[in-house]
Amino acid sequence: MEPGIIKKLDEVVVNRIAAGEIIQKPANALKELIENSLDAKATHIQITVKSGGLKLLQIQDNGTGIRRDDLSIVCERFTTSKLSKFEDLSSIGTFGFRGEALASISHVAHLSIQTKTAKEPCGYKATYEDGQLKGVPKACAGNQGTIITVEDLFYNMQQRRQCLKSPAEEMQKIYDVVSKYAIHNSNVAFTLKKYGETPTLRTTGRNTREENIGTVFGTQIGRALLAVEQHDDLHKFQMNALVTKVDYSAKRGIMLLFINNRLVDSNALKAAIDGVYSTYLPKGMHPFIYINIEMAATQLDVNVHPTKHEVHFLYEDEIIDKIKRRIELKLLGSNTARTFYKQLHLQSGVKEAETNTGKAKCNDKECVEKERVRTDSKEQKLEKFLAHKNTTEADRTINLINESFSLNTTRRSKVTLTSIKQMQDNIEGKLNVVMRKVLKELVFVGMVDETYALFQQETRLYLCNTSKFCEELFYQRLVFEFQNLPHIKLEPSLDIKELVLIALDSEDAGWSTEDGDKLELAESAANILQEKAPIMREYFSLRINDEGKLETLPAIVPQHYPCTTHLPLYILRLATEVDWDSEVECFETFCRETARFYSLTSILEISTQPHRHKWLVEHVLYPAFKRYLLPPNNLKLQLYELTSLPRLYKVFERC
Ligand code: ADP
Ligand code: MG
Repeated sequence: MEPGIIKKLDEVVVNRIAAGEIIQKPANALKELIENSLDAKATHIQITVKSGGLKLLQIQDNGTGIRRDDLSIVCERFTTSKLSKFEDLSSIGTFGFRGEALASISHVAHLSIQTKTAKEPCGYKATYEDGQLKGVPKACAGNQGTIITVEDLFYNMQQRRQCLKSPAEEMQKIYDVVSKYAIHNSNVAFTLKKYGETPTLRTTGRNTREENIGTVFGTQIGRALLAVEQHDDLHKFQMNALVTKVDYSAKRGIMLLFINNRLVDSNALKAAIDGVYSTYLPKGMHPFIYINIEMAATQLDVNVHPTKHEVHFLYEDEIIDKIKRRIELKLLGSNTARTFYKQLHLQSGVKEAETNTGKAKCNDKECVEKERVRTDSKEQKLEKFLAHKNTTEADRTINLINESFSLNTTRRSKVTLTSIKQMQDNIEGKLNVVMRKVLKELVFVGMVDETYALFQQETRLYLCNTSKFCEELFYQRLVFEFQNLPHIKLEPSLDIKELVLIALDSEDAGWSTEDGDKLELAESAANILQEKAPIMREYFSLRINDEGKLETLPAIVPQHYPCTTHLPLYILRLATEVDWDSEVECFETFCRETARFYSLTSILEISTQPHRHKWLVEHVLYPAFKRYLLPPNNLKLQLYELTSLPRLYKVFERC
């Protein structure tokens, strides 16, 4: 067969193909047009759509307008008011940079521009075809700004038109683009409507981003938002984000990413953030994320194809890692404040509940919690204590501010004390390697009760004593995070003497008349703790101030808060059980006591917040075992291998 003859394509055809590459669907064209309006400093942008943008796509703004003299060339390729030499590409602050959007649209649709600048006495209307102005611009009345009308998209490209989705689906994509820009540009009023109908989306230009997110994506998301901010001098970027807390999740994740005010995609960043949430959200569920990053224009590779929104930037890995960590820390610091607050405001009804469930549970002989949970509602004294302090409702608000979580990663002090080194070596020395491997590979299955949970590793199913493992975990974290522990702030601070008195009143303290006067005992306990306060503050982030008030507790495992029911006894035991005289002993006993306190849960907590407790076990504690726990041999007793797949098969073979 003869070879075909190679011919040069007609220029118009070439341009049309090129344009079709840039404008693939109505939403692409609209994105370019919105960016043009924003570049022109518009504060009102109104979009009208007919038939998913296929018949009509119109955008009206109140920006600078286009000068009459420029109307003749504005739709030619590579005409722009935003860039004049290549070097400018690297420092460009506006969206458009290649002068291609209008030209492309004019090659694949009927395009008209009506515009008026502030200086010119009247406006002008011009129509375009294949990059060229048709006829002369006609004078017309009108307000300052620009109306761009795109009609019959792809009228001259049948194949492209056939590739488009249904009008409804194209409309959805348009809605998507407009809503994202509307949220990011909260100071601009956006309206999106179908021709002849009332708006489907409207922002006022006066609401905050949070409010707009609520309006556009629903109040459930709006209410779950957490603001995250970050400035980084080293990698020179700033970030502010609005992300949903871990108690929100949806099947469809939503991520709005703006870099230097441009709506872009970054699969790497998306994957990193998804990774953070996957630890906390149920499988297959996702968060809502809005992220706005600003960096020097020179750092960002903006010379991407208009339809390819995937961006790359300098220090990409480092920046993504930092953002990821920042969001993670923020998530860890949220959601729990109210829990603590509630516990300190035990309502009498709730106390009743505790008593009942407490008794019910403890009928069970094997109830491990039995010795640990006070079951008499009379002894629920924290409330009384607070009342006694005559604090106002506002004062009583317990604010758990663990902002110091963020410091933790940056300010690590090196452990120099040999006693602590020794304790660390000791933990490592007792490590059971096989168990470590099991923990490292564990897949959480479910809770059996407050104490036990099931997990799987390889083909085996294990029953694990969560509270025993927790106690060891807390102990080890205290030892390894020595001097680096973030803190949990107690607001208002709690008087240690009062706490000791509450403890002495409880059965668990085992006080009897021979022990001496309670008040005197409390006084001397408070004195001891006051004297040892510098040690606890310096090394374990437990702060008792000069007035004998407990201000902070160590935050040992992020998201986990010790149960306040046991706080009085813990404080008492710090005075009585910690060996304050020798350094090694002191650290050892302090860490053990603290770990014990942190591992205690109360039936009250579990019964009032069963979901939170479950969530904590699955998403905080077991992941922490997996990540940190170096199980000593003796923990083997708390882990039971229930069955393994091969053994099950053997059973079946016999059948
Ligand atoms: P670019 O945005 O890359 O410069 P475009 O083809 O999108 O290229 O636009 C070409 C030019 O038309 C812009 O540089 C700008 O001067 C002008 N322009 C386009 N849209 C508007 C608008 N809505 N308001 C004012 N000027 C506009
Ligand atoms: Mg543009």
